[in-house]
Amino acid sequence: MKPLLPPIHSIFTSSLPADPDTSNTSRSVEGAAYSWVSPTSTKSAQVICVNNALAKALGFTELSLTSNEFADLVSGNAPASSIQSYAMNYGGHQFGQWAGQLGDGRAINLGQYQLHSNQQNETVEQSFVTLQLKGAGQTPYSRRADGMAVLRSSIREYLCSEAMFHLGIPTTRALSLTLTGEEVIRDKLYDGRAAFEPCAVVARVSPSFLRFGSVQLPSSRGDLALLKQTVDFSINSDYPHLLTESKNITKEVYLNWFTKICERTAHLIVEWMRVGFVHGVLNTDNMSLIGETIDFGPYGWIDNFDLNWTPNTSDAAEKRYRFGQQAYIGQWNLFQLANAIYPLIEEAEPLQNILTNYNQTYQTLWLAMMRNKMGIDTNYEDAVDASNLIESDLQLSKDLEKILSLVNTDMTLFYRQLANISKNVNADDLILIKKHFSDCFYQPETITESYLTQLSLWLERYKQRLLIDNLADSQRKAKMDNINPCYILRNFQVQEAIELAEQGDYSRVLILSELLKTPYKQQAKYKEFESKRPDWATNKFGCSALSCSS
Ligand code: AMP
Ligand code: MG
Repeated sequence: MKPLLPPIHSIFTSSLPADPDTSNTSRSVEGAAYSWVSPTSTKSAQVICVNNALAKALGFTELSLTSNEFADLVSGNAPASSIQSYAMNYGGHQFGQWAGQLGDGRAINLGQYQLHSNQQNETVEQSFVTLQLKGAGQTPYSRRADGMAVLRSSIREYLCSEAMFHLGIPTTRALSLTLTGEEVIRDKLYDGRAAFEPCAVVARVSPSFLRFGSVQLPSSRGDLALLKQTVDFSINSDYPHLLTESKNITKEVYLNWFTKICERTAHLIVEWMRVGFVHGVLNTDNMSLIGETIDFGPYGWIDNFDLNWTPNTSDAAEKRYRFGQQAYIGQWNLFQLANAIYPLIEEAEPLQNILTNYNQTYQTLWLAMMRNKMGIDTNYEDAVDASNLIESDLQLSKDLEKILSLVNTDMTLFYRQLANISKNVNADDLILIKKHFSDCFYQPETITESYLTQLSLWLERYKQRLLIDNLADSQRKAKMDNINPCYILRNFQVQEAIELAEQGDYSRVLILSELLKTPYKQQAKYKEFESKRPDWATNKFGCSALSCSS
């Protein structure tokens, strides 16, 4: 009889060295990229969400998704004899300090599935993806923690990774969300009021779960053999186009690999800036070697545009990972990766040059992104015009950010409204402008004449710029609405969905996951989700600030 579930492959474990110790005790693991470990079996698994399109791409039939075998697989209850699962070993810099070995303390990888259609990030050429269970129990990397994930943080990961995907941003994906039937104690506000919370497992999927920290750890230990094996594996499986015909991995290939990681990281962060995403914990163990968004913890989405905002309460004082600092942190993290691979290259200068180029790449991508957000065209044949326009468009973009910061302005609503401005608008008409953008302002009482005058002067410049392109208003709006989302995963909306789910009502989780499949298209039946953050959510925990407790 044909097996119900698609086959799992062991590409990662057959390519890299295993920890010979097979006990499941917290320890330092040296000379190995992973440890064998089985998920902890659960009491009564209940699958709450399944991502049908992704399941299909992985080879699951529709029928199999409602089977006990599927529930067992994604909750970690599949018979250990059928799956050789493992936890990965990695280190990382946390909040600027080297933290040593971290590893998958609660994530267990089941192995690789062959992709049946190109559902993943198109820049990644890998046709195999890894299925990983987050919250599946203790591993040798759990240190003193319990290996579990609570329902609220699992809902946040499931919804946010899928929202990212449908916004067109590189990300790990979510196949399913399953309640395990267990409970664990968490002090979610860090205020001493710990309480029991339901546990859940997110089955997540990526071509690679390798992090910057996967390379840093062997390097920090002077383990050159494992360092080389890890980097070579990343090149062979995720960057095969960098290999020459001889398949030899030379210094040049390592440098090209590092260049690609810098480019993908720059692209990723520009994309976060486009939609107003703040990762919240950009430690090097949360930075993907293939440039995907990975590890959804105390992240947040920008409501009012504020480059200084961070959702993470553990980072409230320093704000290291604030919205406007993500590009710089990307480079800081890449610098750590460069240090880690130095032994493979033994020359600092080419690495330094690549790191310097990151700034240029980021700036170029950022300007292109801002032009797209403003609906500005850039196809000019005349080189003189093009370079003048770069300067003036850059200034226009930066000045827009200043205006958005002057009063609390909803970023998402603002760009959708900017798309509705006619290039023939009378920008001097302050009353008209105030009315046009009125929905975007959080405190209408702060809208002074002086503010409106600044907005109007900017709009006049914008209008002049639009006249150069001379696109019809409708054409420009269509372009802008394809890049400026109508819906993002607003912090208060996910929090409302969590509070209902904690009462056993998963309907809002399902609605959000449906709605966020078409984030750029206004959907009449989801009108209520277009609104900006309500007053009650301004300072509410979960809506404006989150801890790392998960
Ligand atoms: P994160 O901040 O989620 O990126 O996690 C940092 C490190 O802590 C990683 O090594 C995680 O695997 C580990 N970790 C986080 N939460 C838990 C938990 N509940 N049990 C075991 N390890 C955990
Ligand atoms: Mg992490």
